[in-house]
Amino acid sequence: MKRQALFNPYKNSLKMKLHSVLWQNAAALASSQTVRRVELYAEIGRRQAYEITDQVAQEIAAMEAEAENCRQALPRFTTFRPDKDPTCPYCWIVKGERSAVAISSRPDLYRCPSCEGEYSVAPLPSVLAGQRTTS
Ligand SMILES: [Zn+2]
Repeated sequence: MKRQALFNPYKNSLKMKLHSVLWQNAAALASSQTVRRVELYAEIGRRQAYEITDQVAQEIAAMEAEAENCRQALPRFTTFRPDKDPTCPYCWIVKGERSAVAISSRPDLYRCPSCEGEYSVAPLPSVLAGQRTTS
């Protein structure tokens, strides 16, 4: 006898929760990268007020490169679509690399194979019980 697939109310809600978790993480990372960029330019300005040795010039160049990468965070965030493509927020927003998250050994935990970031999708009891949260 063929076993029928049972309706699993957890499955869809976990997927929606995953999208939400990835989205929230991406937004927080885009925000922190923007702040980091400002901090880097403040530090570059401070260093330029003093003698610029070869060592300092190299450090400034590295900070400028990091600031340029931070500048990419907001444009990357605008193209982040976890509902269509559940990619790791850290890998995309910070590194500009797409890496699909995959379910781990735990059904409520997704993991990025590249950076090993983990995203918890603990279920929402009120949604699973079919209860309305608003009247
Ligand atoms: Zn990652």
